[in-house]
Amino acid sequence: MYKITRSPWVMHYDGSSCNGCDIEVLACLTPVYDAERFGIVNTGDPMQADILLITGGINTQNAPVVKQLYEQMSDPKVVVAVGVCACTGGVFKECYNILGGADQVIPVDVYVPGCAARPQAIIDGIVKGIGIFQERLNKMESGEDEKSSQEEKDSSEEKEEAGKEE
Ligand code: SF4
Repeated sequence: MYKITRSPWVMHYDGSSCNGCDIEVLACLTPVYDAERFGIVNTGDPMQADILLITGGINTQNAPVVKQLYEQMSDPKVVVAVGVCACTGGVFKECYNILGGADQVIPVDVYVPGCAARPQAIIDGIVKGIGIFQERLNKMESGEDEKSSQEEKDSSEEKEEAGKEE
């Protein structure tokens, strides 16, 4: 189990699911599965969310919404795709307006398979997401993230310079 230093706030977005996975997400919040024992708080505000939990596939209408929600979340942030539809497009994959899973528009960190995904698997996915979130937070706090992005910037500038000289 990861050592977490704060309660992760989770936002659930339903892409184009059949509602099967959404009901399982709700089941996670009941006393039977009790996702709150991990300190998880359910929020509807992307600006306060640490983890985006997405169910259902990406279609032409919800693609810009998913992108916007993701961009509104502050760093560090983690995305958990719940159910095969959110992972790959699932049973709706061949539909005329389905683009595929959530990773068609945003980076996905944890994939939770299943149709529908079971509450135990969803909670496991969230806990994995908390671990990734904590790692990113630690990196940000230690300044490692800034250092590596600065190094990336420097090396791309060097490559550009070398290209000009040739
Ligand atoms: S994975 Fe199955 S249960 Fe979940 S949204 Fe897709 S079709 Fe529905």
